[in-house]
Amino acid sequence: MRSALGHWNTGLGVYLAACLAFAAHAQEAKPSAEAKPSAEAKPNIVIIGTGGTIAGAGASSVNTAAYQAAVVPVDKVIAAVPEVKNIANVRGEQIFQIGSESFNNQRLLQLGKRVSELLKQKDVDGVVITHGTDTLEETAYFLNLTLKSTKPVVVVGSMRPGTALGADGALNLYAAVVVAASKEAVGKGTLVVLNDEIHTGRDVTKTNTFKTETFRSPYGPLGYIVEGRVLLYRLPARPHTVQTEFDIDQIKALPEVHVAYAYGDMSRTAYDGFVKAGVKAIIHAGTGNGSVSEFIVPVLKEVRSKGIHVVRASRTGSGVVIRNGEQPDDKYDWLVVDDQNPQKARILMALLLTRTNDSKELQKLFWKY
Ligand code: ASP
Repeated sequence: MRSALGHWNTGLGVYLAACLAFAAHAQEAKPSAEAKPSAEAKPNIVIIGTGGTIAGAGASSVNTAAYQAAVVPVDKVIAAVPEVKNIANVRGEQIFQIGSESFNNQRLLQLGKRVSELLKQKDVDGVVITHGTDTLEETAYFLNLTLKSTKPVVVVGSMRPGTALGADGALNLYAAVVVAASKEAVGKGTLVVLNDEIHTGRDVTKTNTFKTETFRSPYGPLGYIVEGRVLLYRLPARPHTVQTEFDIDQIKALPEVHVAYAYGDMSRTAYDGFVKAGVKAIIHAGTGNGSVSEFIVPVLKEVRSKGIHVVRASRTGSGVVIRNGEQPDDKYDWLVVDDQNPQKARILMALLLTRTNDSKELQKLFWKY
């Protein structure tokens, strides 16, 4: 058994190793002397640190998947990529230092409100958020729906800590700054940049536990970052940022919405627990096309009779859930997602419930966003 002090020592060792590794790269990688815009001409980008693997450190360079996330301060993460100074005037701001699995509604609101404040400043042209990859897609969808600005906002993470062989964080951060500083990103909503790709916060999802090409959008990325150039091939089709009815500055709290994951031999325990906890809606992450097993149908009818909304989503990871397809939603007064996965459906439903409780309206808005 290791003592608490032992843990502390290991943590400190990992942190020091990380700082040294980050500092070493910063020293080697001097910004190139190529013709670049002067300080005045460069956009001002704020990089907000929230933690995650991009701020992580492993005990050795071969620890690509086992390491401690959220230990390196954002200023050190930025200092390890001095090349960004060729692109923009950057400054860091540490808002959290957490694994993104520990995001909650309160942190989401805090982050959104801070980003909104920054975007209102004349001397801020764009914001980059360094974020853990686990729930990055939820934060990105949330910001995409609630920020009221056309200035670029880019959420970035990495799959390997900065201490690992083949670390991806430095290049991802560089690419994120390139995108945030670009005119191409203006008015495109909250974007996600990893692995040379640009995705819309609405569509992107994490699809693999360890690979660097884990972020995918069912309809493909919006574009690429190649040699510091932003190449866009498609645009977000759904309303975002200034086009939505949600305003981060006006939202005081988000209602509780939870997700119940379906499988064979599903029991009613999770639903009962959520009802008892006083949730306002349950996202049923159903099998296939949002299917509900014959023994859960009466449970969900009971849930709805208590005034709690039921939203049928799918655990498959992609595809549209058809209203009145697998279940008679009109008859039960249930809702279906459009193509939002269950975790994104949770974000949207929480936001929608700040606007209306009417099922018909809620359904329309699910199809809109
Ligand atoms: N658990 C980490 C996080 O989401 C994983 C990562 O960043 O890749 O913060």
